[in-house]
Amino acid sequence: MNKQILTYSAARKFQVCHKAYHNRYLENLVPLEQDDALFLGSIIHECLEVWYKKKATGAEINRLIDEAYSLRDSAERQKRDWHLARAMMKGYCSHYDQEQFEVIETELDFRVPIINPRTGRPSQSFELMGKVDGLVRLGGEYFILEHKTAALITGDYIEKLPMDFQVNLYAIALGRERQIPIAGVIYNVIQKSKIRQRQGETEDQFELRRQDLIRKSKTGKTSAKRQIPESDETFQKRLESVYEAPGMYARETLYLSKADMDRTEQELWEITQEILSSRRRKHWSQNTDSCFRYYAPCMYFPLCRAHDNPNIKENLYTKRPPHSELSVSESRIF
Ligand code: SF4
Repeated sequence: MNKQILTYSAARKFQVCHKAYHNRYLENLVPLEQDDALFLGSIIHECLEVWYKKKATGAEINRLIDEAYSLRDSAERQKRDWHLARAMMKGYCSHYDQEQFEVIETELDFRVPIINPRTGRPSQSFELMGKVDGLVRLGGEYFILEHKTAALITGDYIEKLPMDFQVNLYAIALGRERQIPIAGVIYNVIQKSKIRQRQGETEDQFELRRQDLIRKSKTGKTSAKRQIPESDETFQKRLESVYEAPGMYARETLYLSKADMDRTEQELWEITQEILSSRRRKHWSQNTDSCFRYYAPCMYFPLCRAHDNPNIKENLYTKRPPHSELSVSESRIF
């Protein structure tokens, strides 16, 4: 019997909200509007792959970014992320021109059994599948290389990393697939700058501001000039200077303990059992505490709020096979 595929993302979504898991992995629903933050993250991952795999030049990396944001001249959001991706990668390649570790492989696929920790026997229903950003050797030991783009690199962010379910899971999976001991993980974090290209003022906006300044001025005059839009070249240089600061990058090497691995293996097994139970009962509970995690609504909020109204489903969502980046038969992925 073919086993169902479980990925980290699917397991995580189920942990967060069973209903969200059902919408994404059984109904295959995604919002019609793509999450641009996720797209930027995936472009940076692609760039890092070619940087580490082929030691691509700056021009090659820029070409890749240019192709990804081919609509940047007409789409404002594309233009913004295009600038950001170029500056991030230029800064990164200069900051990490020399590495301490040896890159063994990048973008490693794995497909391994999920083991029942109590009996030591593989699940009859699920297999674990995924992709690891990189495998490197440092001081004679193997480490997973995990790239992340973050809105802000804070102490809290670094502090929480050892609890990261994903890397523990990937360490177990890769160790099982390659039959090698994974000592730990190297987190490679790049911060996303929040600075924006100055848009300048229209004649009307300038006139309003000028009148306001005159009203507030004791002399009844102002020397204010109309703000001119910032050119692409000037903005790119300003962004590049942001990425010259070492604080925009963070590297954290963590050793994974057997206790972490055992806990993760147990957790994974429990998730598979709970998914099977939900499917048997045809019940996918809603975790309403998660509807606004990270101060943004869940992608299924409009649908849940409308009690799964078919019109909302049709107008705001489309169907996309889950995990299309992983090359398996879509119908078998859960
Ligand atoms: S909106 Fe809330 S209840 Fe609905 S799927 Fe998202 S997290 Fe779950």
